[in-house]
Amino acid sequence: MRASAVLLAVALVFPAADLLAQQKKSVSQREIVDIVLANTKPLKHPRGNRLPLYLWPLHGLGTNDAAEAERLLKILDSRGLPVIASWYPAPKRREQSLREAMWLGRLQKKLGLPITVSAIACMNSFCNGDEKTAHVGDDGKPFFDFSFETKRPMGCPFALEFRHPAIREQVEFFLDAYQREGLDIQFIFVDWEVDGPIEWNDAWAHSKRCRRCRERIGDISDFAVFQKTLREIRCRMQRECLAEPVLKRFPKALVGNYAVYPNDGWRYWYDYFEKLAPDALFKSDQRAKYRPWFQEFPLTGFTVSMPVVYTWYATPTWYDFVSDDYRWFYNLLLVASRSGQHKAAGVPSIPFVHWHTTSPPKEPDPAVKQFSAGKYQELLWHMLLRGHDTLFLWCPRDETAEEVRLLHEVWAASLEYREFLEKGKPLLFDVPRKQGPVVSALQLGDRALVRRTDFDDHKDPLTVTIGGKTIAVPRADDRCQVLKLKQ
Ligand SMILES: [Zn+2]
Repeated sequence: MRASAVLLAVALVFPAADLLAQQKKSVSQREIVDIVLANTKPLKHPRGNRLPLYLWPLHGLGTNDAAEAERLLKILDSRGLPVIASWYPAPKRREQSLREAMWLGRLQKKLGLPITVSAIACMNSFCNGDEKTAHVGDDGKPFFDFSFETKRPMGCPFALEFRHPAIREQVEFFLDAYQREGLDIQFIFVDWEVDGPIEWNDAWAHSKRCRRCRERIGDISDFAVFQKTLREIRCRMQRECLAEPVLKRFPKALVGNYAVYPNDGWRYWYDYFEKLAPDALFKSDQRAKYRPWFQEFPLTGFTVSMPVVYTWYATPTWYDFVSDDYRWFYNLLLVASRSGQHKAAGVPSIPFVHWHTTSPPKEPDPAVKQFSAGKYQELLWHMLLRGHDTLFLWCPRDETAEEVRLLHEVWAASLEYREFLEKGKPLLFDVPRKQGPVVSALQLGDRALVRRTDFDDHKDPLTVTIGGKTIAVPRADDRCQVLKLKQ
């Protein structure tokens, strides 16, 4: 099976079992922490008020020894890296999970470090296979949609509300304990994906066969109506079972879900489990099929935007650019730019990133070349100059060393320009449809922090307009430039 897809899929459904299985057959969590330390360095420039750098591999420290844990937390903090606590609400695990998470939280509080929580397991599963969650056929018989995952019985969008209290309780059990002890949560996220109403794959066809769906959805033959109806229900689930319970207790917390972010009404990528719905409209770009996307973020109540900028396997096969790297770069910059550009005021953006080719098939086509490390690092720079506040690495455990090294290098170096990143205004969101130089810029007063990345031998300065002023941006490989904006 596809390692990365499996890890992501399993993490959604069975996080505890997955982590245990991974630890048995590979390195321990304590060893992962050492790998992270070996591939990062203490920060040269202070982080100030910038958000830390989030790493999926840092779910826990892998030690029960308080002195050792404190030592590791301090060393990681000197590199800008927080440790994530995991909540597991299943009856057999919840007490132990709470004890372990709070033990970490107390140490973080004592050291003045931010408390970060993964509540992934708490949101699963609305679609738990209960017959009451099923669609209803004309013959009155219940049926499910298995087009997302063979083992996931996706139910009827209009039959899931009775599951809200059970899911909300799984979140509130942990939230209440943290609140009682004064453990303030800075950031809490979930990766809630293959559950609840989703309009893709064969969901539309299933709803058309369901008596209840046909009654409740106005014009079910109109995909836009179907999409809006489902997404509104989905947003309510996230708001009532996650965002509101969190913000009621911790009003300043950042709370968000993987892949839920403000956008321009289009989605430029497909998750590992997603297919375009047959007969649904799309926008073509060479061979890419971009999907219309409902503006769900404002209805969720979330306080952090979490775009997904992953190297999905099929991406470079969509485009004909001469440079293999630009086939990746173009799409990933499109995702990053449209989400950065539409970021809501006062809502930080923490995009998920992944460098190794994501979710490849068993026998990958040799024509699909891995995105180069150098251009991936360039992409990260452009993301930071296009409205994103930090980055969140997701990767399978065996990729930890290289993924962490590439990401931390860029993020740590960006802190040299903290003033621009904190106070500057991102001005360029253009994604060139013709392979060539790409420029991003943050304006601060009469100066601009500029990154230029080239995909050919073009040596000349490039003329760009920033804040109504025209400036020439010289080629400058592998570095940022601070340019004066002419009066
Ligand atoms: Zn239905």
